[in-house]
Amino acid sequence: MSDSFGLSGDAKAQLLGRLSTRRVIDPVEAVPEPKAPLGRPEVAADLDMVRRAGEALGITNPYFRAHEGVAGATTVIDGKTYDNFVSYNYLGLNGDPRVNAAAKDAIDRYGTSVSASRIVSGERPIHRELERALADIYDAEDALTFVSGHATNVTVIGHLVGRGDLIVHDSLSHNSIVQGALMSGAQRIAFPHNDLDELERMLATARSGADRALIVVEGHYSMDGDVPDLARLIAIARRHRAHLMVDEAHSLGVLGKNGHGIAEHCGVDPREVDVWMGTLSKTLSGCGGYIAGSAALIDYLRFSAPGFVYSVGLPPPVAAAALESLRIMAAEPERVARLQANGARFLAACRAAGLDTGPSIGTAIVPVMTGSSIVAARAADALFQAGVNVQPIIYPAVPENGARLRFFISSKHEVGQLATVAARLQDVIAGVAAHGIDLSQLAHKMVAQ
Ligand code: PMP
Repeated sequence: MSDSFGLSGDAKAQLLGRLSTRRVIDPVEAVPEPKAPLGRPEVAADLDMVRRAGEALGITNPYFRAHEGVAGATTVIDGKTYDNFVSYNYLGLNGDPRVNAAAKDAIDRYGTSVSASRIVSGERPIHRELERALADIYDAEDALTFVSGHATNVTVIGHLVGRGDLIVHDSLSHNSIVQGALMSGAQRIAFPHNDLDELERMLATARSGADRALIVVEGHYSMDGDVPDLARLIAIARRHRAHLMVDEAHSLGVLGKNGHGIAEHCGVDPREVDVWMGTLSKTLSGCGGYIAGSAALIDYLRFSAPGFVYSVGLPPPVAAAALESLRIMAAEPERVARLQANGARFLAACRAAGLDTGPSIGTAIVPVMTGSSIVAARAADALFQAGVNVQPIIYPAVPENGARLRFFISSKHEVGQLATVAARLQDVIAGVAAHGIDLSQLAHKMVAQ
């Protein structure tokens, strides 16, 4: 073929002439109106309202603070050391030299990534070692790891049940559980937090219309620091021919004598639970999620769960860090004991100071109710100025009357540190609450911004 695409000399000249006289339309000019911003307008409006309220109240933004080292019982932000209560580093294993060394060794051996899905491009021995160790925590036949804890719930719940099935979950369930349930297409019902009578009533009504039923709960609730009655849940699941799934994100390393979670805490056989879920990001100093259960369940997920099959395997240093954390947890159960003693101590001190700690059982999560979002935000700000880093949990994350300061305790907190902070809290909260807010003045300032 000629280099003129088969056109004669004349035809080519005509075509070039036509093209050179055609008006070039600027693509920007062609768009009649600006595009609406992506995302949900009501969410953007809520975020804007919270930001402007914070500015009007003169509160420094408590989100996305940059920690300059390992965030443990203390942390350094902007060069200043704080007592720290915002980390899930429950057993102080993130930053442990042995965990760091295991991660570094894995990098030297395997590199920083496995670059593709394990099903197609193969796994590393450390993947299976970690999964074996995780399965052993639950006396389970097998386990499988995923690259995100959130994605684990979404992909697994979305893949285990579907149209015609029923999911009943606790109303305080983590977003990842709700997203998985929505994706599955199953009928979804939320039962009031930890209200197992209501769960029974809901199952009695809805169970018969569904093929399969899945009950999903958490082993330790991260907002309230309370736990479900696992023995009763197992009995309910059995009675209603339902499967039971338990999210152990905040239970592993925290509950039970050896940190094995809610089953150990409640003294029940972990094999009675169909699907154990957990994350590698908290006690295990890594990132990712896991499922433990029967060999058939794990095999099904290994070969077909979209978030596993179509996603990269865990990076070797992350798998190694999690495995080493599990080893240390087993070898040093005193860490778990210390965390539990610290949690109990802090809860008792807060209660003794007359603070409302909600239903917390006082292991690693202690909320301190403030009665309003404004008091929570101002108290957190005042504490930050005084060298204490704690997150305010405000509306819309919780109902307005459930606003709180949420304390995460670790095995590394010092007894004196916990006592000092608990003793100071009452004064700080009372202090900011006493400085009543003139809401009309606040609204005026927000409008003026
Ligand atoms: N489940 C629960 C109960 C959680 O609290 C979280 C995160 N805090 C997740 C799942 C998601 O885990 P990850 O942050 O490791 O993705």
